[in-house]
Amino acid sequence: MGRLEQDQELRAALRATAGRKRREMYGLGVYVRGLIEFSNICKQNCMYCGIRSSNRRAQRYRLHPDEILECCKEGYELGYRTFVLQSGEDDWYTTDMLVSLIMEIKRKCPDAAVTLSIGERDNECYTRLFQAGADRFLLRHETASASLYQSLHPTMTFDNRRDRLRALKEIGYQVGAGFMVGLPGQSLEDLAEDLLYLQELDPDMIGIGPFIPHEGTPLRHEPAGSLETTLDMIALTRLIIPGALIPATTAMGTAHPYGRELALQAGANVVMPNLSPVAVRPKYTLYNGKICTGDESAQCRFCLELRIREAGFDMDMGRGDSLKRINRSTHPHV
Ligand code: SAH
Repeated sequence: MGRLEQDQELRAALRATAGRKRREMYGLGVYVRGLIEFSNICKQNCMYCGIRSSNRRAQRYRLHPDEILECCKEGYELGYRTFVLQSGEDDWYTTDMLVSLIMEIKRKCPDAAVTLSIGERDNECYTRLFQAGADRFLLRHETASASLYQSLHPTMTFDNRRDRLRALKEIGYQVGAGFMVGLPGQSLEDLAEDLLYLQELDPDMIGIGPFIPHEGTPLRHEPAGSLETTLDMIALTRLIIPGALIPATTAMGTAHPYGRELALQAGANVVMPNLSPVAVRPKYTLYNGKICTGDESAQCRFCLELRIREAGFDMDMGRGDSLKRINRSTHPHV
């Protein structure tokens, strides 16, 4: 038997094992998070990202806090109980503004979780947002290789990224880390480092997706990351951190028409349909070919529900807290 065929068998076994582990931990339920991409204005300049500050061709937008609240209300009526507020690093939103917004969301949607994905801020800001009611925070470590990290993030530092992740954990957030697969110059050893770092940090959520080039970035001619390797990483992550919440990412759905379904079968257990206003969706382009930029929020919800069912899983509209948190109060401050 040839090497590739052996690898294919090993791959199939790895994914099946991870799929069983996921069933053991979480059953067949798939948690749903409504994603609101509220600003694509960013002060950072990450080499891979379409909304990097020096991409002059990006059409910039920012939603007013009232518009963000409207999206949450619409999502709440559609049944969502987690909202992920994601943006570039946009300091127009002061800590005070975000505090009021979070409190308002919690008042209107009391049984919903609020997840932030707004990049690096200082401890005081993170603490105040947590006290205002934010439950979770996504900040991918992007890559655990220090030299690769430095070459891809000219405006940020590797040490600070790790320091921010530690701080978020200490403050009490359910924390999400994660990385891209197939970054230019990334080796299999680098991916092994990613897994070891995850084991050490032990985050609640782990986002993994293939690198996909964006035409407005210096990496526009680089090849996309491999779907197969990304699925391997998802499966290994499920086995290393069995209780993690692992999304079948939009990047997976962009890389392959059934990328998200394949991710669910390889151990992922979360999907993040888009709740952003349709008018701004095409502008939040981190990479080429991003899917679901034209659908209304309700359409996205029902399309994903069908896909989840077709793939043999059940959509779970609950808050879907991390297993580590289920038996204690997630929010001692409120
Ligand atoms: N500014 C926030 C949110 C970033 S966008 C933050 O720093 O956390 C969310 C994620 O998209 C990033 O963490 C990155 O891993 C991913 N991403 C960005 N550009 C990408 C690309 N070209 N291909 C694949 N994923 C990308």
